[in-house]
Amino acid sequence: MLIFRQLFDNQSSTYTYLLGDSASGEALLIDPVFEQVRRDAALAHELGLHLTWTLDTHVHADHVTGAWLMKQRAGSRIALSATSGAAGADRLLNNRDRITFGKRYVEVRFTPGHTNGCVTYVLDDQSMAFTGDCLLVRGSGRTDFQQGDPHAMFASVREHIFSLPATCLLYPAHDYRGITATSVEEERRYNPRLGGDIAVDDFAGYMKNLNLPHPKQIDVAVPANLKCGQAAAQTKVDDPQWAPLTFTFGGIWEIQPQSLSEIEQPVQIVDVREVGEYCGVLGHIHGSKLIPLGELNSRAAQELSREQPVVAVCRSGARSAQAVVMLQKAGFQDVANLSGGMLRWRAEGCAVEGADL
Ligand code: FE
Repeated sequence: MLIFRQLFDNQSSTYTYLLGDSASGEALLIDPVFEQVRRDAALAHELGLHLTWTLDTHVHADHVTGAWLMKQRAGSRIALSATSGAAGADRLLNNRDRITFGKRYVEVRFTPGHTNGCVTYVLDDQSMAFTGDCLLVRGSGRTDFQQGDPHAMFASVREHIFSLPATCLLYPAHDYRGITATSVEEERRYNPRLGGDIAVDDFAGYMKNLNLPHPKQIDVAVPANLKCGQAAAQTKVDDPQWAPLTFTFGGIWEIQPQSLSEIEQPVQIVDVREVGEYCGVLGHIHGSKLIPLGELNSRAAQELSREQPVVAVCRSGARSAQAVVMLQKAGFQDVANLSGGMLRWRAEGCAVEGADL
């Protein structure tokens, strides 16, 4: 089965796409964003997928690619167009090349115009295509910098995107209105720049008069992306070092029971259940402090230290996840949730006290 997810980066309005083959567990990530690598890696992990490739549709000017950082974290290889001019890729792609993930693949179509190195990735059965900044929903990428050429873009769209099946769904690299997808048929008919009877000179005239502002990130993003996002120093994505933690797609740092039971550095364990539960059948962790969730906001500042990491605990890990969010909002830096709560703690044979056995 094909696994497909569309992810969004709020800062740059970029869409990142995860394509996975459930049988083999292999997956591709198209147009990853540097600041979202942790999130994207968490999602792939939770879906049981192994990222084998990151693919960029082009050298972006508005965000730094996550390709290099994902390679460091997940071992994924980097591919983008041979015409991109970028260094540091594991594979430089040519027109009609295929990148496989399990039994599936995407095919490369050169679609220059926004930049020289723009490509569209077409899924093997032509049911979806990822058009980067060439064709956008009822729009197109700009053609006024980075080797932009409206004549090339017009030919790319008409010959290589509009030639796909009418029902083929098109997924752009950006949308600034929150529109998520379109189709070949819709864009052929309704794209105000490129559809219907519009001719190449109409399009070129339209594009010459867009008068768009210079992209804010271009001076940082382009040099970094010409190295596939290597060591993008402007934003460090540092993981907490005080314990082996995992980041969930839900946005919470978690610690596994075994790691907490073996931790050497002092941590504050805050149990956010009710008194009856704390003293009830599941017992509690030695040294844990009881602050029921409803009292956490009013008591945390007085009763917990900001100098020591905090691990939140409850029965199943749900209320304590909320506790983590509350503590972070209150300014606590190093906070994690005990994964699975007391239920998993007990199931994994970790020590409890006060259990009503
Ligand atoms: Fe772009």
